[in-house]
Formats: sequence, structure tokens, C-alpha cells
Amino acid sequence: MKRPKIAFFDFACCEGCQLQVANIGEALLDILDIADVVEFREVMSEKWDQSFDIAVVEGSITDHHAIERIKMIRSRSKLLIAYGSCATIGGINGMKNNFELDEIRKEVYGKDYKYFDTIKTMPVHHVVKVDYFVNGCPIYPPEFITVLKAALSGIPYDVPDKSVCIECKFNENICMYEKGLTCMGPITRAGCNSWCINNGNICYGCRGMVSNPNEKSAKDILEKYKIDLNLILNRINMYNKCRELEDNEQKRY
Ligand code: SF4
Ligand code: SF4
Ligand code: SF4
Repeated sequence: MKRPKIAFFDFACCEGCQLQVANIGEALLDILDIADVVEFREVMSEKWDQSFDIAVVEGSITDHHAIERIKMIRSRSKLLIAYGSCATIGGINGMKNNFELDEIRKEVYGKDYKYFDTIKTMPVHHVVKVDYFVNGCPIYPPEFITVLKAALSGIPYDVPDKSVCIECKFNENICMYEKGLTCMGPITRAGCNSWCINNGNICYGCRGMVSNPNEKSAKDILEKYKIDLNLILNRINMYNKCRELEDNEQKRY
């Protein structure tokens, strides 16, 4: 049987998700028993100019060149996995969308800003079809392996659409609100096994929002703990600003 070929690509991002994959260790070796990695800039210099079975894409689409490049990658690949919040929901790159594009360009490039192309940040699925999503900033390694195995086996994977609180309760954590902190767990998609809370941090909402957040409960929590709504809205924007494009300008594939 022909060994599947996997290629990794990056767009606008910090490359932290690539690093997570490179550090996965043994579980990744199991994958390499049955598949070949043919391109992965962070860990190898080889590049095979060919088609591949699975493209694994990190980062957001933030300029016209990126639009052309992701279309080219899609045309060469049978399946496409978007991984990391930058790729799946726009992530922190989406904060750019809070500003006028010229304002951003002047700030970054100074007087010659007009020579530097930029567009509003988009997640990958706003430009090409994505078959699998691995949310998170960075990705949660066990979920990445699950998704890669699903892609190699030809079975679907759905990002969980329940809140992080559910996993957090199973892990018997003391709620951050009880400690006087705020946490985005109630409206954030699970799948990371409440990673941050297990390690003493709050949830920042990096996996994106559940599709049907329980607004009433969220309001009750804000009232009970006397939390300013603007604080929560700012936190939502930190990772989820690109959600606004779904309704307004862009069509989801
Ligand atoms: S999702 Fe987070 S860790 Fe991954 S590339 Fe983007 S900013 Fe970096
Ligand atoms: S709000 Fe945060 S700390 Fe509290 S249960 Fe939900 S995820 Fe856990
Ligand atoms: S707990 Fe929240 S911020 Fe941490 S990985 Fe999970 S979704 Fe992301």
C-alpha cells in the first residue's frame, strides 16, 4: 500500500503549534511508521515539489499573497487540516480587525506603509475548504494526534461543541471564579481537557466559542461575582474577533 504523504505549512502565526507537533515525541513516531512527512519547515530542510495526501496548515490569512498560496496548497492536497487558533478561528491575529488597515500598516511599516499589502485577518476556512480543525493556542497535542489519525483513516472529527467547564468539572478543579478570577471556560469549546485550569491558570478562550453559549448562565455568573461585562467582551475579542466576519463579509466554506 502507498504510504500517505503529509506536508506542514505556516502562514501568519508564531509557529508555536509547529513546535508543539515537533515536541509530541512517541505518538508522532507511531504516525511516521505509516506515513511520510514530505515538508515541514521547522524540522526539516527538504521540500518535495509534488502533491500530498494531507496538508497541515498553521496560521491566519492576512494578505493577498497568502490567499493565492493557500489556494495552491489546497489544489495539491487531498485533505487539509487547519491547526491552531490562528488557522481555525483567526485567533490573536484577529485583533488586527479592531483597527483600520491603514492605521495598522502605518504603525508597523512607518512612512513606506503603502508598499506593504495587508487585509483583514481570516481563518483558513474563509478562503479554502478545510476538512479537519484542531483548535487551540497552541494545539493540545493529544487532540492533534486524534485528528491526524482520523484523517489518515478517513473518518470525520468534530471539534467538541460543549464548554471547557464540563471537562474542568470532570477534572475536579476548584472554579477560578471561586478564587476571585475570571475565566472564559463557560463559553469556550472543550477538547483541551481544561488544560490551563488543571495547571493553575484561567481559560482565555483560545479554542473559540461554543456555537450556542448559555448567555443566561454567563450573565448570572457576571452578576454573582460583580464582573464588568466589558472585561469579558475584551477577552472574547482576544481570540474570537474573526467571528464577526462570518456574519458580515466572508462566507464560511
Ligand atoms: S495558535 Fe497560538 S501557538 Fe499556534 S501559531 Fe497561532 S499564536 Fe502561535
Ligand atoms: S469557569 Fe473556568 S474554572 Fe470555573 S468551571 Fe468553568 S472552566 Fe473551570
Ligand atoms: S483551557 Fe481555555 S485557554 Fe486553555 S487551552 Fe483550553 S480553551 Fe485554551
